[in-house]
Amino acid sequence: MKFFVVLSFMLLFTMTAVTKSRDEIPEKYKWNLKDLYPSVEVFKQKRAEFEKKIDTLSKYQGKLGESAKELRECLDTYFNLNKELDRLMTYVSLRADENLSNSENLKLKNETYNVARKFAEASSFIEPEIISIGEEKIKQFLKEDKELKLYELMLSRVIKKKKHILSKKEEALLAKTSMIADAPYQTYSIFSYTDMPFPVVELNGEKVKLNQAAYTKWRSNPDIKIRNIVFPKFFGTYKSFENTFGTLLYAQVKKDWFYASAKKYNSSLEAALDPNEVPVKVYYQLIKEINDNLPSLHRYLKLRKRMLGLKELTYADLYTPLVKSVNAKYSYEDAQRIIEAALNPLGKEYHTYLRRAFSQRWIDVYPNDGKRGGAYSSGNAYEVHPYILMNYNDDYESLSTLAHELGHSMHSMFSNTYQPYVYSDYTIFVAEVASTFNENLLNHYLLTHTKDREMKLFLLGHLLENIRQTIFRQTMFAEFELEIHKRVEKGEALTGADLSKLYLKIVRKYYGHDKGICKVDDLYGIEWAYIPHFYYDFYVYQYATSLIASTHLAQKVIHGNHKDVEEYLGFIKSGCSDTPINILRKAGADLETDVPFKTTMKVFNETMDEIEKLLKEENK
Ligand SMILES: [Zn+2]
Repeated sequence: MKFFVVLSFMLLFTMTAVTKSRDEIPEKYKWNLKDLYPSVEVFKQKRAEFEKKIDTLSKYQGKLGESAKELRECLDTYFNLNKELDRLMTYVSLRADENLSNSENLKLKNETYNVARKFAEASSFIEPEIISIGEEKIKQFLKEDKELKLYELMLSRVIKKKKHILSKKEEALLAKTSMIADAPYQTYSIFSYTDMPFPVVELNGEKVKLNQAAYTKWRSNPDIKIRNIVFPKFFGTYKSFENTFGTLLYAQVKKDWFYASAKKYNSSLEAALDPNEVPVKVYYQLIKEINDNLPSLHRYLKLRKRMLGLKELTYADLYTPLVKSVNAKYSYEDAQRIIEAALNPLGKEYHTYLRRAFSQRWIDVYPNDGKRGGAYSSGNAYEVHPYILMNYNDDYESLSTLAHELGHSMHSMFSNTYQPYVYSDYTIFVAEVASTFNENLLNHYLLTHTKDREMKLFLLGHLLENIRQTIFRQTMFAEFELEIHKRVEKGEALTGADLSKLYLKIVRKYYGHDKGICKVDDLYGIEWAYIPHFYYDFYVYQYATSLIASTHLAQKVIHGNHKDVEEYLGFIKSGCSDTPINILRKAGADLETDVPFKTTMKVFNETMDEIEKLLKEENK
């Protein structure tokens, strides 16, 4: 059901090199899992009790259509058990992440996953039975039983699925195809991360195997000579396997269309967005708005060229930092103080939860031997509180990540407080709104509280790069993804060469190649082969829509009044009690209009004005 934890993207599964053992870290910097269960023994006892309770569901099987009372009791039982399971799962996941090499904890986690599977099997009859009861009878049940009202929205969501459910025989056959359907992605992964022969190159006198990790490290090197080795060598390797990559991606897109059309959807896009209740209009709106705003991206690229002092800007110059990274240090205590001040506009209740997160040990702060790398927030323990895993490193990146994860945690905390369990879990579509909203407020606070010119330039540059990479680049991917699906839906075949030709055309449009703004060599048409997200079925556009919505909401809170704050809090209180688009609309960010896009582009351009002003002052 909902065992995912929201991971900070880009920080996925990177183990940090550390020396300290967990015992050496003071208690106050470690999360307190006793809030979940006082001891492992108590946990095991609760899990055993839970396992016994799973069987109580079976008495409802085949009876949900008999009466409103039967249906309600079944749902009460199901959601109560699910809530307990969330708590059990949270406990074992967090414990395991404290030290991934601890086999006891891993065993505990695996055993609990098996219990979860058992629960999923035991409850698998519920949805099909609700669907077969039908809309009319459910309506009548809702009139008969006042307490069933709680589940009205949940029931309507299940019934809506009916349109896309086939006969029993067809569904069974379709389920079997899943055994073969992931072959394109599996082959893509194993090939590009294991078997692909990456070249060894000499960079700064160092022999480097130029794989994906090395590319991300070296592509931002300030030395143009190094970048001019890294880019052609890295993408050249992909180019030599263009046919293979093309065959794999073509197979993946055909797979998407196979399931979409089998399930009676009009397009692969509709099939991907429908389960999240997002209308396809939102996707098209994003592509249109970003295309209309390409002149702003071009302005940024010209500024970048000027700041880097280049005669010509090329595709290899996009990741070099605009200004030297500042060496500002932020201790964890500094971070708490800064984040509290930056989020102060959100009022008393928000501040209370924030203080609790810091003082009641919701956060596992520092790295230790064997601890999972990166950062995440886990908000599934409904009656307890969210937890945050950090690998805090005293720098700006850590400060900003902490603010980000706290955004997720506060979203969970408010939704868990204000929504019944059944509607507490917010959807993926809005997940990155609350987190990037906090980054926005943090950036604003630091900018208004620093007099240091270098620091200002650093923060402004960071904001611009974030918008380029999260909004423009992800929308560019979204446009490519849409186009290749459309071609397959029309019955066209796709080869590696076709994909490169199409990709090159889109990249050149975005980066203003024909206008002489950024030169994109033919070779970079192969970049699509490097992006694993094209196997995630219309996922990346949500990075762009999230940052656009959060930028708009942050501007409202920064420049607005009490009502704007209330609207934002209304958003984080809503869980999934409405469609994600409606929830954002009520908060004042209507993604079916151009308003949030306009705000975001205004921020983008004002940031450039600010940088230009600082650069002028320097020349005086
Ligand atoms: Zn996140």
